[in-house]
Amino acid sequence: MIPSVLPTYARAPLAFERGEGSWLIATDGTRYLDMGAGIAVNALGHANPALVAALTEQAGRLWHTSNLYQIPAQQALADALTDATFADTVFFTNSGTEAAELAIKMARKYWYDAGNADRTEIITFEGAFHGRSTGAISAAGSEKMTKGFGPMLPGFTHLEWGDHDGLRAALTNRTAAVLIEPVQGEGGIRPLPDQCLRGLRDLCDQTGALLILDEVQCGMGRTGRLFAHEWAGITPDIMMVAKGIGGGFPLGAVLATERAASGMTTGTHGSTYGGNPLACAVGLKVMEIIADPAFLSEVNRKAARLRQSLEGLVASHPDVFEEVRGLGLMIGLKCRVPNTDVVKAGYAQHLLTVPGGDNVIRLLPPLNTPDADLAEAVTRLDRAAATLSSS
Ligand SMILES: *Cc1c(COP(=O)(O)O)cnc(C)c1O
Repeated sequence: MIPSVLPTYARAPLAFERGEGSWLIATDGTRYLDMGAGIAVNALGHANPALVAALTEQAGRLWHTSNLYQIPAQQALADALTDATFADTVFFTNSGTEAAELAIKMARKYWYDAGNADRTEIITFEGAFHGRSTGAISAAGSEKMTKGFGPMLPGFTHLEWGDHDGLRAALTNRTAAVLIEPVQGEGGIRPLPDQCLRGLRDLCDQTGALLILDEVQCGMGRTGRLFAHEWAGITPDIMMVAKGIGGGFPLGAVLATERAASGMTTGTHGSTYGGNPLACAVGLKVMEIIADPAFLSEVNRKAARLRQSLEGLVASHPDVFEEVRGLGLMIGLKCRVPNTDVVKAGYAQHLLTVPGGDNVIRLLPPLNTPDADLAEAVTRLDRAAATLSSS
């Protein structure tokens, strides 16, 4: 008999009833150290007092009005995001998937309005993840996500990660946009080298294609800059944001330049919930905390220390781990044993990590995790690895 919850997830036999910072307390009282943070969502930890206050204050006044009316908190969050980034304008969504949908629509509408109605092709990359809607799985293109769900949305060209020649050949006067994650998340924490992102920006400029960055996982301070593309010193035309921006409240956004967004006039897009007062009250507080340069420099300091300890961990368990990779507090440990075994061995040490593609386990801790908790996570990973070591 089918479970009453549609069984699309292989869930761990764990349930939590409370959270405190980087800790989750299970229904039996056991404390788990959370290095997954709801897949890079709880960027400021669980039950963060500043976010709880922002949420409850708003909850007592007004939850939802629809976008038929002005929403002051949405306006304030859009202003904060445009002030801090390349963007001139923002549309709010409830998820990363919805941000992907708008990013695709926006790029195509731009070319349609520019008199190039057949300039619809969008270039994407192997290992990508942009969400689970038909548009987003068509964009990513992997058989694992698309098989059985056809027909797919047409107009995507899928290239190998790092295929520079293929990219040059694929960029034609039919290319509307290139869509890429500056650091692939689900694909196994694969950072795009800065020079590649700069080269991609140049190629887009030469051919006119729009550059869409999916910063749903790597954005909002995760890599030690507010957005990951800042490391390369370039800016996109369109950017997708979600996950960390809501700190656990469902919130996403598409940020764009005035030019890229020029086709999105009244009536061309919408969302009942997107950017509602409750979500934006939380998003504003998250943005206020994370966009602070002092906060981001702490993320970088913590990340450097953690990285060093993890290099040591890999060196002491060469039969379990192959390498550490990633950027900031978006870290992948490539495993030599099945990554799901490492995640399970972590559970036994009351440590939560997240599996990713390419046989990686992901560490995506809250960005404000205390140093002692990060050190404790390495200790627990060390114990977990010891239980898997063949030697
Ligand atoms: C999680 C994720 C998405 C999809 O976001 P949802 O909120 O699950 O719809 C899209 N892109 C990237 C890079 C992601 O990590």
